[in-house]
Amino acid sequence: TSSSTPRSGPRVVAVANQKGGVAKTTTVAALGAAFAEAGRRVLLVDLDAQACLTFSLGIDPDSVEVAVDAVLLGTVDAADAVQGTDDGMDLIPSTIELAGADAQLMGRPGREFVLRTALEPVLDGYDVILIDCSPSLGVLTLNALTAASEVLIPLQCEMLSHRGVGQLLDTVADVQRILNPRLSVLGMLPTMFDGRTTHQRAVLADLPERYGVPVLAPPIPKSVRFAEAPAVGRSILASARGSKGAAAYREVAATLLDGWA
Ligand code: ADP
Ligand code: MG
Repeated sequence: TSSSTPRSGPRVVAVANQKGGVAKTTTVAALGAAFAEAGRRVLLVDLDAQACLTFSLGIDPDSVEVAVDAVLLGTVDAADAVQGTDDGMDLIPSTIELAGADAQLMGRPGREFVLRTALEPVLDGYDVILIDCSPSLGVLTLNALTAASEVLIPLQCEMLSHRGVGQLLDTVADVQRILNPRLSVLGMLPTMFDGRTTHQRAVLADLPERYGVPVLAPPIPKSVRFAEAPAVGRSILASARGSKGAAAYREVAATLLDGWA
C-alpha cells in the first residue's frame, strides 16, 4: 500500500470515521505510543472539540492555554501549541474552543488547507503525525484529509455500523480529486473485535471485497482494559502493557513501519 513516488517528511495519518465510538481516539493514542516505543518521533493532533485524546493522555483540556483552534485560525504557530506527554509522543491538544473555530473557518477561502499549512513548519521534527478526527465529515475532517498522506479507518465488525463507510470513502475520493491527490487509504482497522462471534468473523472476512481497500491486521480485540486507560492519563500500551490489546496495536504499528521502510 506504500506509494511508489519518492517522498520525504513524515507520514501524516488521518484517523477518520464519522461514526463515533469506533476507537479513533484509542487508536491514535495506542498507535502513537507504539511508534514512540519503536523510536519514532511522533506528533498527535487532537482535532475533536470533545478533546478526548488530550484528556486521555493526561492533559486537562480546561488547563490548556494554546490549542489546535488557535493553530487553525493562524493566531499561534503549531510549534507553540505542542506539548509533551508521558507516553513519549508530542501532542497538539484540543479544547472546546475548537467548536467555534470550526464555524469561523467555514467563511474562509482555502479553509480546507489551513491545517496542512499550519503543520508545514513542524513536519521536519517528526517521523509520524497522527490526526484524531471528530465524528463528522465537516471542515475539520476535510482539513485532516487534506493535510494527510494517508487515511486510516477504524471500524467495528458490526454490519449496521458500516453504513457510513461508503460515504467516507466517497469523501476520500473527492479529497483525492480536488484537494489532496497524494492522499492514499492506508486501510481499515477492525476494532473492538470479538472473534468468538460468527457474525463478526463473517463481517471481517467480507471487508476487503466489500470496500476494496486493505484491512489491517490483526484486528484489535475487545477488552475492558481499554476503558481503564484514559482514567490514568496513559495509552493502553502503558496502562496495560502486557494486554492483548496493547500487543495487537504494537503488531499493527510494526506492520505499518515495515510497509513504510
Ligand atoms: P472514537 O474516538 O471513535 O469516538 P474512542 O476511541 O473514544 O472512539 O472509543 C470509544 C469507547 O470504546 C471508549 O470508551 C474506549 O475506551 C472504548 N474502546 C476502544 N477500543 C476498545 C476495545 N478494543 N475494546 C473495548 N473497548 C474499547
Ligand atoms: Mg474520538
